Amino acid sequence: MNYVSTRGQAPALPFDEALLAGLATDGGLYVPEAWPRFSRADIQGLRGLPYAELARRIMTPFLGGCIGDDDFAAMVDDAYGAIGAFGHPAVAPLVQLGAETWLLELFQGPTLSFKDYPLQLVGRLFDHVLARRGQSVTIIGATSGDTGSAAIEACRDREAIDIFMLHPKDRISEVQRCQMTTVLSNNVHNAAIEGTFDDCQDLAKAMFNDAALSRRYNLSAVNSINWARIMAQTVYYFAAAVALGAPDRRLAFAVPTGNFGNVYAAYAARKMGLGVRRLAIGSNANDILTRFMDSGAMETRPVAATLSPAMDIQIASNFERLLFDVYGGDGLGLVKAMERLRRDGRADFGKARWRRIRKIFAGHRLDDAGTTAAMRRIHETTGVVVDPHTAIGIAAGEACRGDEGFGGAPLVCISTAHPAKFPDAVEAATGTRPTLPPRLADLQGRRERCEVLPNDLGAVSDFVARRMAERRTA
Ligand SMILES: *Cc1c(COP(=O)(O)O)cnc(C)c1O
Repeated sequence: MNYVSTRGQAPALPFDEALLAGLATDGGLYVPEAWPRFSRADIQGLRGLPYAELARRIMTPFLGGCIGDDDFAAMVDDAYGAIGAFGHPAVAPLVQLGAETWLLELFQGPTLSFKDYPLQLVGRLFDHVLARRGQSVTIIGATSGDTGSAAIEACRDREAIDIFMLHPKDRISEVQRCQMTTVLSNNVHNAAIEGTFDDCQDLAKAMFNDAALSRRYNLSAVNSINWARIMAQTVYYFAAAVALGAPDRRLAFAVPTGNFGNVYAAYAARKMGLGVRRLAIGSNANDILTRFMDSGAMETRPVAATLSPAMDIQIASNFERLLFDVYGGDGLGLVKAMERLRRDGRADFGKARWRRIRKIFAGHRLDDAGTTAAMRRIHETTGVVVDPHTAIGIAAGEACRGDEGFGGAPLVCISTAHPAKFPDAVEAATGTRPTLPPRLADLQGRRERCEVLPNDLGAVSDFVARRMAERRTA
């Protein structure tokens, strides 16, 4: 099993190389050369399995023998098993919202967003592959919230990894900050930058572009384009579907979408044989994907800040993986389309390709007022308190339910974050202030470690050099 770049110019790589590479050298994203298929009998055989065992079976075909079976089973068990990182015995529990509507609660991980599900495994995979090669990496990331904490939790105390996370000082919520800065492991380094999220991102990019620095510390990134993250996200779609009657029942999923990674994983599960009738994409005011679903044209606009910040994204990078399919693997055709989009801020991919996408995907958008109204309505009608992202997903699922493609399928809405991550928005909508789960109840009182730095490349590079020197002498 090899992985090819969506842009067709980079060499195909085995699983472990694609894992470490992240982005392909031609700027493309890695996708499997051929997809593993699960038969009806295979899917039937997943019924009743604990999440960790189901995860092992779903992901093993993707490894192409790169990781030993026992090693992989141990990693999966460590991440998703009984004494793993997740705070619910089902790992990804389903809650019934209505007669044919369920909520898949993907906020049971250590940092309360669905990003824990892939990253808890990816951190272990990185560590394993690096240790085997006698290598180490330094991960540098910029975060506006959820990714940073999930990445830190995934990397803390891993031998072969140091992680530096830059966040904009005083511009993330207190819960989000504490989820990063109270991790006191020696290999975790937080910096609060006196600037915006974009400044943080520019600093991280500038460090990657500094060839000497990059080589010296073997810099690496944690972003949503890593193939292994997608792979690990297909698991909960299988788990939910099997719990609700797959392969005998086909389902629809509703997914609040930013970078298109999560909903692409649902599409990937469908390619692997899972009966998925329809995928509803929820967007906030940054609605490039829903506009594309309506018109067939992709048009960039400036990013607006919303109540659902994890979806404040202009171009969804993982959408390229879907385009690769509808281009029939024609990397050069795809490169031209992406160049048009970058140059003109507008691209369409042809009517036939758009129709193919529309057959599976539907889109729906909610602005902030709509998001607040949805949180309130969901609370009033079901008693369930959801975060702004999740509310958008539920509303999108409900709105798309009448489409003929749905065919009366049961609807599973993906809950991407715990409401206590966004307490102000939730309280404003529902009148109740959500509280953190017991294991995080004392979060805001814990000791923090974080360096405040000016928005200056030299200062941040010095910080990295200083911390890495301390690590080597420790
Ligand atoms: C990251 C994130 C999303 C968006 O997921 P994508 O995979 O980027 O589409 C939605 N909701 C929350 C809470 C997130 O953290």
